[in-house]
Amino acid sequence: MCGIVGYIGSAKAAPFLIKGLHQLEYRGYDSAGIALTQPETGRIEVFKAKGKVDNLERKLQQAAGEAAAFTVGIGHTRWATHGEPSEQNAHPHLSGSGELALVHNGIIENYQLLKEQLVELGYTFQSETDTEVLVQLIDYFYQKNGKKLKNAVSQALKKTIGAYAIVVMERNNGRHLVAARKASPLVIGIGQDSSEFFIGSDATPLIEHTHKMVYLEDEQIAEIRMGHELEITNLDEIVAEVSVKDVDLDISALSKGGYPHFMLKEIFEQPQCIENCMRGRVVKQADGTYDINLSALHNFKAKLIRARHVIIVACGTSWHAGLIGKQLIEEMCRIRVEVEYASEFRYRNPVIEKDDVVIAISQSGETADTLAAIQLAKQEGALVFGIVNGVGSSIARETETGVYIHVGPEIGVASTKAFTGQVTVLTMLSLALGRALGTVAEDKFQQICAGLVEIPRLMKQVLKQNDAIANLASQFTYAKNFLYLGRGYNYPVALEGALKLKEISYIHAEGYPAAEMKHGPIALVDKEMPIVFIATHHQLYHKIISNMQEVQSRGGRILAVVTEGDTDIQKFAHDLLEVPDIINCLEPLLSVLPMQLLAYHVAVKKGLNVDMPRNLAKSVTVE
Ligand code: GLU
Repeated sequence: MCGIVGYIGSAKAAPFLIKGLHQLEYRGYDSAGIALTQPETGRIEVFKAKGKVDNLERKLQQAAGEAAAFTVGIGHTRWATHGEPSEQNAHPHLSGSGELALVHNGIIENYQLLKEQLVELGYTFQSETDTEVLVQLIDYFYQKNGKKLKNAVSQALKKTIGAYAIVVMERNNGRHLVAARKASPLVIGIGQDSSEFFIGSDATPLIEHTHKMVYLEDEQIAEIRMGHELEITNLDEIVAEVSVKDVDLDISALSKGGYPHFMLKEIFEQPQCIENCMRGRVVKQADGTYDINLSALHNFKAKLIRARHVIIVACGTSWHAGLIGKQLIEEMCRIRVEVEYASEFRYRNPVIEKDDVVIAISQSGETADTLAAIQLAKQEGALVFGIVNGVGSSIARETETGVYIHVGPEIGVASTKAFTGQVTVLTMLSLALGRALGTVAEDKFQQICAGLVEIPRLMKQVLKQNDAIANLASQFTYAKNFLYLGRGYNYPVALEGALKLKEISYIHAEGYPAAEMKHGPIALVDKEMPIVFIATHHQLYHKIISNMQEVQSRGGRILAVVTEGDTDIQKFAHDLLEVPDIINCLEPLLSVLPMQLLAYHVAVKKGLNVDMPRNLAKSVTVE
């Protein structure tokens, strides 16, 4: 998920690697490292540091010695998924034999099983990562097959389930590097006359050195040999065509992955993020039915099944995800759920019983109020379950169990992909728990799982409206107030839409359950007031149409988010945005996307700093 660089040629590798890692910093990371070798020396030197690439650079300056002149190297910025951010867990990882070094982006889903098998074979492990399991597995085949690296890599990858972009370095043959990918990108840049090669998880660090790029495809392995043509094969070592692209990109367009802001990049990453979040968790079985595997549920099943109440504690956007979680858990598990602002919960002597389960949701895993709420819940003997993005974060450490959302680093201050990741985890959790409790019918379980796996594709469809939303946004920059209305599962989406707009465009916005409008907010409606209705088919559709009529007759300007193909709402709405039809409990995963894009484009049109809005911090570590 994070950054990879590699170099093989006749120049010093370290300067390219360090600069390249700096250029990949925009992706977010928690630690960095490089490994260097030189063909004749038979040595691999590894340097790692927690935190910024600057720390790694300092370390290298102090300790590199001869290695500073080595001409082969691999480098990595890590965003922890397995094991906390630490020097030990940072990449590159060496095999036990010391003969191989590897950098890896992605997640090895079956690492636990592979690790057990390797431990039986006598392998030991220095880190908590899934990556170290992969380098040891490659080492196992390497030792067995007479040290043929490429063959060892393909054998190991055939045993691997998950996502990877990897580059492997060999101590006793510094004349080549072996790279491979599946579901995580990897690019190889070809230097003059194939005398040097540059590798990157994207083209950003490569573009100033070469425009000749080869984008590896899924399950392809490249052998990159100094002074030779690239050789690319599939996992069965059948040679594939090397397609060299002439990439002529402006370097400034490449930072932030080609997007003008992190927030837009993160909005567009959501299809991939949700796929990552479900990876190895929503599983299609041989008979075509779905199962949900959450190790947290497996290990704490007895306690979770006993839960009399669930209390969700969170702040901000995570609190909105919690409101969707309440509806999901109540629907699938028939357990009563309360959703609390962590800041209120911690100070108001709440009733917490022994058999209660407290679910703490936080993007960063560092939110001070949520941490305090967790302490309180623990004192009262409740089981505390975390849903966080930040691996090894304080909340991940303080909770007894939980599920990481695995959406990768979120840099834009206004949360987008973390929200859909949280909702995805809450959906998987409520489905799996409901099934264990017998409170969700099997056909419904299957229908929702089938819908979930479609979400990434459907999200891409919704995102196609980006240009239309950008145009629409120009008409709203004048607004002083916005109202967002939704019902059922879309009520929290209305709250989230309003929050996004407030956060980055500084326009005052309120979210309400649509029917509540008559009890006050309707007094605000006039010609100046844009009103966003999330009015998809399932969510009390006809009642919401009545609410729209009430607004229309008072002159309010309606922007409606409707189910694709809806023809009735046109009569009332000034503007329409569409989302594909999906079972109602999954609608927020689609309907929130136009809300995010609308807020983004209004803020951009107002010329505001979208990624760093005034007065806000990404991770709120003060109460
Ligand atoms: N799963 C690996 C780890 O936790 C790689 C994470 C990444 O993509 O940076 O170390």
